[in-house]
Amino acid sequence: MRKTRIAVFGSTGSIGQSALEVIAHLSDRLKLVAIAAHQSVEQISLQAQKYKPELVILTDPAAAANARSQLNRQIQILTGTKALDRIAESADIDLLIMAMSGTAGISAVLRALRTGKKVALATKEILVAYGELVMKTCRRYRGIILPIDSELAALHQCLEGRDKSTVRRLILTASGGPFWRKGLPKNPALSSVLRHPTWRMGRKITVDSATLMNKGLEVIEAARLFNIKPACIKTVIHPESIVHSMVEFQDGSILAQLSKPDMRLPIQYCLTYPQRLPSLVSPLPFDSITRLRFFPVNYEWFPCLRLAYQALAAGALATCVLNAANEIAVEAFLNRKIAFATIPVIIENTLVACLKQKRKNRLTFAGLRNSEIRAAAYARSLIEKQNTRKDKCLPQ
Ligand code: MG
Repeated sequence: MRKTRIAVFGSTGSIGQSALEVIAHLSDRLKLVAIAAHQSVEQISLQAQKYKPELVILTDPAAAANARSQLNRQIQILTGTKALDRIAESADIDLLIMAMSGTAGISAVLRALRTGKKVALATKEILVAYGELVMKTCRRYRGIILPIDSELAALHQCLEGRDKSTVRRLILTASGGPFWRKGLPKNPALSSVLRHPTWRMGRKITVDSATLMNKGLEVIEAARLFNIKPACIKTVIHPESIVHSMVEFQDGSILAQLSKPDMRLPIQYCLTYPQRLPSLVSPLPFDSITRLRFFPVNYEWFPCLRLAYQALAAGALATCVLNAANEIAVEAFLNRKIAFATIPVIIENTLVACLKQKRKNRLTFAGLRNSEIRAAAYARSLIEKQNTRKDKCLPQ
């Protein structure tokens, strides 16, 4: 049997690391061809020695030069974002795992889809900012997108083989992050925001989980990926993170996907789809699960989730702006430039300002990229303005 040849872009992040474990676990049918990161030389060198890919990409040229001096000559080292594009479209791989942060990997994703490949997508920002374009490209060139995100992977499994017209609602579960009981505190310590109750993840997504923007991005992802109306996508808080999401059908019956919260399971689902194989994830310990709780989301407490629904209803340009503004606001919060409660204010003000200026050609890559850059610049200018004010608070 020919092995599935895989490239992992974003191999040093938490999803990338789990993906390498899964590929090694199923080495009789999966082959790691390439790994890529931006500039984590030490970590990617260790990964290269342990998992033995054929090539390594470091998009930062200085980091690539550094890696060349550390790794043996058998491993080819490439640099620059063009190298990502070249590998994504090369006949040498069958499947691309995209787990780089933000929208940096959009061009590689489009190229992989245009060459009819499978893309296992962990980076939700790509579907949020460029979703309609990505789905159009996927349909046109008969590529396949499989979502690694646990909630989206759960929906994919519950929808598999079903007639879409029989679906009443998608029900996305949210762990709720650290603040689901009381809503967003105004000025919490960075450490309390970064303390996620169930998942260990990168800093950006952990902040998104605390604001519930992460759930908002997933609502947008789900609408794009499964072509479902926003009004038919519900979110509920489920603190145990065992039910990863559900599909309700017209007759009222609900299918759910349950497992321990371990990303190696949705990753393996994507890599072996449509087959199912033994995984590294231990079974659910039903003897010790005493409760599975569900609570409604309070949208007044979590304005980021409300903004995500509003942007989805407004269309492709709005979701692109929402994503860009959120990335800048979260980065500013992580760099202690703005208070936690200012994140949704920056996003809302950027949405209002950027959507006033109507533009043509929204669905082209260049058009969306342009909107993304302009929205990011606008959000940055808002942050700068508020940093020159004494009270460090934006006007509402
Ligand atoms: Mg998720």
